[in-house]
Amino acid sequence: MPELTTNVRYVKGIGEQRAKSLEKLEIRTLKDLISYFPRAYDDRRTFKKIRDLEEGENACVEAMVAAPPTLNRIRAGLELVKLRAVDETGTLDITFFNQTYRKDSFQAGETYTFFGKAEAAGRRRAMANPIVEQEGGRLVTGRIMPIYPLTAGISQLMLVKAMEQGLAACRTLLPDPLPDEVRQEHGLCRIGYAYEQIHFPDSEEELAIARRRLVFEELFLLAIGLRRLRGRRDQLTCAPWENTDLTGFYGQLPFDLTGAQRRAIEDIRADLTAGRPMNRLVQGDVGSGKTMVAAAAMVCAAANGKQAALMAPTEILAEQHYKGLAPLLEKLGIRTALLTGAVKAKERRSILAALESGEVQAVIGTHALISADVAYRDLGLVVTDEQHRFGVGQRGALAAKGERPHLLVMSATPIPRTLALMIYGDLDVSVIDELPPGRQNIDTFAVPGSYRQRIYRFIEKQIAEGRQAYMICSMVEENDQIPDDRKAAAEYAKMLQEKVFPHLHVACVHGRMKPKEKEKVMAAFAAGETHILVSTTVVEVGVDVPNAAVMVVEDADRFGLSQLHQLRGRVGRGSHKSYCILISDNRSEEARARLKVMTQTGDGFKIAEEDLRLRGPGDFFGRRQHGLPALKIADLTCDMALLKEAQGAAMELLERDPELISCPATAGRVEEMFSSGVEAMN
Ligand code: ADP
Ligand code: MG
Repeated sequence: MPELTTNVRYVKGIGEQRAKSLEKLEIRTLKDLISYFPRAYDDRRTFKKIRDLEEGENACVEAMVAAPPTLNRIRAGLELVKLRAVDETGTLDITFFNQTYRKDSFQAGETYTFFGKAEAAGRRRAMANPIVEQEGGRLVTGRIMPIYPLTAGISQLMLVKAMEQGLAACRTLLPDPLPDEVRQEHGLCRIGYAYEQIHFPDSEEELAIARRRLVFEELFLLAIGLRRLRGRRDQLTCAPWENTDLTGFYGQLPFDLTGAQRRAIEDIRADLTAGRPMNRLVQGDVGSGKTMVAAAAMVCAAANGKQAALMAPTEILAEQHYKGLAPLLEKLGIRTALLTGAVKAKERRSILAALESGEVQAVIGTHALISADVAYRDLGLVVTDEQHRFGVGQRGALAAKGERPHLLVMSATPIPRTLALMIYGDLDVSVIDELPPGRQNIDTFAVPGSYRQRIYRFIEKQIAEGRQAYMICSMVEENDQIPDDRKAAAEYAKMLQEKVFPHLHVACVHGRMKPKEKEKVMAAFAAGETHILVSTTVVEVGVDVPNAAVMVVEDADRFGLSQLHQLRGRVGRGSHKSYCILISDNRSEEARARLKVMTQTGDGFKIAEEDLRLRGPGDFFGRRQHGLPALKIADLTCDMALLKEAQGAAMELLERDPELISCPATAGRVEEMFSSGVEAMN
């Protein structure tokens, strides 16, 4: 008797060779096979008489082959098999291109079902390369056909046949991860039926029923898994902090905070006084003013006699935060220090001593903050900026230097709400969805490389008007390796300096430079001494040079949309009209569609949503950065309503039965789903 774990070779027609090909699709067992869902469907249910076929219509025709097929060799590489089929209403001329075997696969006088796109020529009808089946057959005609993603050595027909056998063998053996009462309460069909109909739907309605159930199941399991991760955290307690009067802090600011900033700060204050360690994500578009939100939290820490640490992913960012925050915090009597790899040994020793004694209450730095020899007297708040750049381990290592400190994560990658709900199921989320007043649109253009001369002239003009420009040359991280960006950036800068802008100052900054050098280059750019800064993505985040008004990105198609959005956020930070020019010679439809999104909107959330739609959640953050189990069927951009319903059901179940004792099949599936890559979320 076959079981779910039986090897796919059990299926007739699947031998060693094909089993190997199927492995590329991660199909090894019968269970894998029937869990391989179609990516689309082809509705082949319409039957027509020949006379009624309309031009361009897809339909099945039952017709008799009137005479043996003929083979015509038009030229090398083009062979036509032609045949004439008839029914009582008319004649259908059928042509197969380069399918020579068709010549011998028809019997004159026999009736077949042909499915294809009809062409009309006067009273006659024609079809090219139709799908063919013996009369009365219902394998590939007369039904809604599943379309599977394929790999070399595997055809649709082969998969369809295998799927039928697989379903017949073990459809009834599938354990249902949805508890019966959940299934009934939410009007969801049984799992066996869902599997059958998702592959071979009897109708659109039945397909919708199957799909709804499977999507629900997936989201339900995801929600349970995430909730359990979070549950572990919720059991932690800590002494609640006193609420802090922030009037003095607000009074120091040269501007009024936006409503969104204030809301985020209120969320944080509520967390800090709740008696549980905070675990909050503050998400806001580039330039939305997250730093001040972090600063408010740091003020709260100091007021409660606790230390706060803010960790940034790059030296440049850490220094910039320090320069922005230290004067503000110091004015409020909070001793603030900067700790990066660039700090000299002697100074470092004194900072470490001051951290250990508690004399320094706020420290801003890079991962230098988590070096083994850094000790804090009482670290109560850990802020990480641009969190997706940190490994989870790094965040954890900083937190481990305190005793259950409050955690605040700031992300400039706008995440569609649906996805945020899922990925950060274990974090609370505050969204800063409002930019400070007076920001202007950045005019964005996507152009081919042939525009380069024009772009250079445009840059010159802008510089003549007193502005500065960034030029980014792309270096995409591949296979978790940081590429050697030094050469690309340096050579590009040299070329620009010598050949294009001999009378201007071109500088270059890249990831392999010593921090001191980097700082010098950045400082010169910030001071307006250099006109053009060539850089790699290494400096994409956070840098603030209000006079820069042009951002040029080479090979723009190689960046994620959210990354491009980050890069674009480097300009338009002052009062000057700003421009972003995306250069790409990639003519593929996808690349063009993606760049077009950039030219059409400046809304980071919309861009993220588009990115998600075009690339799928798996690629959204790049493989390393999200810890989301791969979703087979649920589409997080579309299934929002169902997501909420599934989440509600998951919470109810966990309330009733937190350990899932009553439903081992649910527990088992959650375990399976979360067995890989999920630590990444905590
Ligand atoms: P991000 O969210 O990208 O980290 P920043 O915190 O760097 O944004 O803020 C971007 C710029 O906006 C900074 O120059 C900051 O001083 C300024 N800023 C922040 N909040 C406000 C506000 N409420 N009104 C005006 N300017 C603000
Ligand atoms: Mg920032």
